[in-house]
Amino acid sequence: MITLKSFVNGRWQEGSGEPSVLVNPSTEEPIAETSTEGLDLAAAVRYAREVGGPALRALTLGDRAALLKAISKALGEHRDELLDMAKRNGGNTKGDAKFDVDGATGTLAAYAHFGKGLGDARLMPDGDSVPLSRDGDWAGRHVLVPKEGVAVLVNAFNFPGWGFGEKAACALLAGMPVIVKPATSTALVTWRMIQILDEAGVLPEGSVQLVCGAPGDLLSHLGEQDVLAFTGSADTGLHLRSMPEILERNVTVNVEADSLNSAVLAPGVDPDSDLYGLFLKDVVREITQKAGQKCTAVRRIFVPADQVERVAADLVARLEEVVVGNTADPSVTMGPVTSARQLRDNRQGIDALAAEGTVLLGGSEPVDGVGAPEGKGYYVRPTLVRFDDARAATVVHQREVFGPVSSILPYDGTPEDAAELVALGRGSLVASAYGDDPEWLEGVVTRFAQWNGRIYLGSSGVAGAALGSGMVIPALMHGGPGRAGNGSELGGLSGLRLYQRRSAIQGDPALLERMLGGRGPTS
Ligand code: NAP
Repeated sequence: MITLKSFVNGRWQEGSGEPSVLVNPSTEEPIAETSTEGLDLAAAVRYAREVGGPALRALTLGDRAALLKAISKALGEHRDELLDMAKRNGGNTKGDAKFDVDGATGTLAAYAHFGKGLGDARLMPDGDSVPLSRDGDWAGRHVLVPKEGVAVLVNAFNFPGWGFGEKAACALLAGMPVIVKPATSTALVTWRMIQILDEAGVLPEGSVQLVCGAPGDLLSHLGEQDVLAFTGSADTGLHLRSMPEILERNVTVNVEADSLNSAVLAPGVDPDSDLYGLFLKDVVREITQKAGQKCTAVRRIFVPADQVERVAADLVARLEEVVVGNTADPSVTMGPVTSARQLRDNRQGIDALAAEGTVLLGGSEPVDGVGAPEGKGYYVRPTLVRFDDARAATVVHQREVFGPVSSILPYDGTPEDAAELVALGRGSLVASAYGDDPEWLEGVVTRFAQWNGRIYLGSSGVAGAALGSGMVIPALMHGGPGRAGNGSELGGLSGLRLYQRRSAIQGDPALLERMLGGRGPTS
């Protein structure tokens, strides 16, 4: 059994007291334990502010971009080991593990690329120079500077690699040190990543710390210049953003939370077309990849009423081919959910959906996984529930069942009806729409954008190129309104904003330009 230490105040430290045990969800075998009890987390916050922050701010933006490149490279050199850990601690198939681990290195590399162009400046321009005098000798400019505190990155259990990589990429490039706190149940991958980076000697002192296990009093030490970047459930998000210390000191908080993402099929799509094939392939992937434990997974499938029968049958046929089991077995195509708590939550959620709809495939009954010891492992079958009246249904628009579970519902084929139904989810990360009629697609975009962070348009032209609605792209914003947390991450250089202060500078335009690394009035 591995003991996972935390990396705080410049050293690897073990907590005392009763440890939390991390297991292999495919078999329930214990694989590691961790505790944070007794660690001085107030000192970790100070260490980040007093050592990590100045070290990062001394670097130019170009230097920080090079740091991200070095981080991505160091992690990439240990790819196979990290994939294996994701399989063992996350119940991931190899493909799932790649999604997480390569997602982390890919996002860090993308930000290294975005940052490279910022050169040897320490200030980032925001918008154009504004002339303030008639002769042009006096001007104003908005600039972005790193906040002087620490960014605490609290991540969900489903992406221990990518969750760290995508948040750290933006914070470090902006110039803020981070303390990463992965979800305890799947902390193995994050722990090893930080260990690899420490061993590689690429991290400026104090720039990256790890709290591996319960958060203790970490968040109560945050202040005005600090950031809490949280990903997890809406309930925890609400609790954290309402903490008196967070509210009193106006700590910047970003929440990425639950989401009842939708896929919508346009009327009249030919079942023999590539477009219909893309729709089926995407939806099945979004239900089964990482056993449905993706914040972007499709939870609600809206189909014109006269096509529900056909689509349901096609989805059932494809989902029946999924082999659920121990991801150490090469025949397995979908692993377990990650913990006993998730298994319980999935079963309760499926029962709640089944109380209002009809289960077409799967269900909440216990199931053994292929290649797993009998009665062991946290397995859920791919489950599809059908609803005949999308407006009368309630649970499907309210409860995120975080597993391989989705529902199919009818709509009247118009963008208006689809938009109203999608909005019943009260804010989502992504909605996908499959059709070729430009007017229908435009109707979708104009009506969906208010309630969905991202809109993925599946049309015949992209059938061979599109990577699916679940793929979060570093250059595009990730986050959704309402219940999805109302947060925003990534989106190219705008992803740095969370970790920066914006300030208006007035002065000699030539001096301002020099401070911005020669990036002139229109850069
Ligand atoms: P969770 O139970 O809310 O936990 C999320 C994180 O918060 C974990 O690291 C957890 O640590 C920590 N935490 C819990 N209570 C805390 C407290 N009082 N102080 C500080 N930290 C605390 O969520 P989860 O079960 O890990 O993740 C599943 C959820 O995440 C799903 O609802 C999913 O939709 C959402 N998610 C959203 C996105 C997105 O980008 N929008 C991405 C991935 C997942 P412990 O593990 O130590 O309790």
